[in-house]
Formats: sequence, structure tokens, C-alpha cells
Amino acid sequence: MSQRESSFGSRTRRSHAVALLSLLLAAMLGAGGSPDAAAQGARASRPRRVAASRPSPPSAAVESDALVERATAAACLERELDPRASVPIDVMQARPPLPSRHPEVVDGAHRAGRLLPVARLLAAEALGGLMREHRVAPAAERAALRRLGEVRRVRVDVELRDNASVFYADPRTIRFGTIFLAGLRSDEGLLSVLAHELVHAADGARGGLSPLFRRVGLRAERVGRVGKISARRAEELTCDLVGVRAVRLYVARNPSDEPQARRASRAVGHNCVELDETDSAHLSPRQTLRALLALDPAFAAEITGDAEVETAAPLNHTAPPPRPAARPRKPARPSR
Ligand SMILES: [Zn+2]
Repeated sequence: MSQRESSFGSRTRRSHAVALLSLLLAAMLGAGGSPDAAAQGARASRPRRVAASRPSPPSAAVESDALVERATAAACLERELDPRASVPIDVMQARPPLPSRHPEVVDGAHRAGRLLPVARLLAAEALGGLMREHRVAPAAERAALRRLGEVRRVRVDVELRDNASVFYADPRTIRFGTIFLAGLRSDEGLLSVLAHELVHAADGARGGLSPLFRRVGLRAERVGRVGKISARRAEELTCDLVGVRAVRLYVARNPSDEPQARRASRAVGHNCVELDETDSAHLSPRQTLRALLALDPAFAAEITGDAEVETAAPLNHTAPPPRPAARPRKPARPSR
């Protein structure tokens, strides 16, 4: 935390320095300043001319972009102010290993176990809605929800560090690295990750949700301005999207004294990184944040305060899961 606050502070100071320089240049130009100052003023104006020569994007796209920008700033500001904010991924990655008996890990594991039943219900509802939105075949939808409903346990795994994972050899268990458990300090933050892992479990050993991942990825390419999204990254993004929607349902149905924008922000706060690095499986944290806000404008509006809380539909389609059937498992893969 202190490392992050320190770098945030230095970035703010740089902004102030740039603003002061601009004011100084403007004053010199206004008073008939030196040729050097005039030249700098001309260079500063060049980007505006380039921007003006471009064709204007449709106003809906401009509005969507503006909402995403404001929501990104608001979510990450909430993360700075929130005493129970999630630790950003880049800070977690830099941390030393954490023993499983560390009090923050023990607390996180206890909360994760307590939240798993509600995470199953909300993730099933959110994933069910997303599958119908993207016209997933009913048989595939039923099979995915059955696999999701079979997850029963949360286990602590020191080796996973700042990740969580579902191993297909043991698809009823969500495993959490100790750094991740300690870094997800709110129920909302933890719930978003539980729902994420439940989607991996719902996908199953044979990748039953591949068509859904592909369609969500294509939509994200259209609305998110994050470039081409690979199949693997589309899967991770879809898991995150279900995590966001599960948290939205949770917040709507479990009122508290905390501001709604703060609670909603916890679903994505771990993506508020300074060091925006990525790997082959994930969009970068900042790209993920941008894509999620673009994919779910109602979520963005909840974070900015532009929208009232949506009245969530009652839970009505998450029937108890049928008995599990034996099936071949593909190897485990790390997740987040
Ligand atoms: Zn994942």
C-alpha cells in the first residue's frame, strides 16, 4: 500500500509541474514572450489540430468512452479511499510469500468459505443471464450451471501466491493463493473472484463455454477499444464479467451503510495498477478494467453515481444441481 501511495503522490506532483509550466508559457505568450516560448506554444497546439482533422466518432461511442473514463477514475479513487479496498495486482505480485497461518489469510479463507454458497447462487444467476444474452444452447447452459453448482470447497494454496485456480482434477474446489486471499479485504472483492473461478468450473474440462467466451470477446473488441482479444483472454474477461455482475446482484440485495459506488468498485479495484503488465492469458489489468466497464455500462454508471441501484430480479432459476457425472478432466491451469 505505502509503495503505491508513494508513486501515486509523485505522479500528482508531475501533473502539477506540467500545469504550472503551461500557465507560465501562456503568460509569456500573452506578454509577447521570447521566440522560444512562442515555439513551445506552437508545439503544444499541434495535437489539437491533428485531433480536429479526424472524422468525428458517433456520439454514442463518445458518450460510452467518456463514461468508461470517468468510471475508471472513480473506481480507482474509491480504491484509494476505501479501508477495505483490494490490493492492486501489481502490488500483490511484488509481495513476498505469505504463510497460510497469517491472520489476514486465515480471515480471508474464513470469509471465502462463508461466501461460497452465495457466490454459487449469484454466479449461476449472472452466468445464466449472460448465456441467454449470447444465445448459448440450452443444453450447454444446463451443463455449465450443473458443473458450477458442484463446487463445494475453498482451499488455501501458498504456491498460488496472488492467483486463484480451479484444477480440473478436483473441480469441486477453488484454490486461493495466500497473497490473493489477504489482498481481497472486502466481501465484494472476494465474491468477484469466487464468481470468476466458478465460471472456470462451469466451463469444465471440455471447454463447454467456448462459444460464450468467443462472443463476449467479440463484443469487448467492439465496445472496449482494447484491440483483438484471444480466446484465452476472452475466457478470463468473461469470468471477470460474471464476477462484476455477481457483485452487482450482491450489493443490490444486501444493503449496507457503505456507499454503493464504493461497494461496486470493489469488484474491479484490484485492477487499479500502476504497473500495467500482462501475460498470454489475461488482458492487462487496466485493459480488463476498461473492457468490463464498456461491456457493462450500468455497472459503470453505478460507480460514477450516474445511475440509481438497479432493482435486481429475484433468484429464480438456480435449481439445486443434479448429481455430478464422471468426465475426463483437462490439466489444471493457473488462473486469476
Ligand atoms: Zn481465470
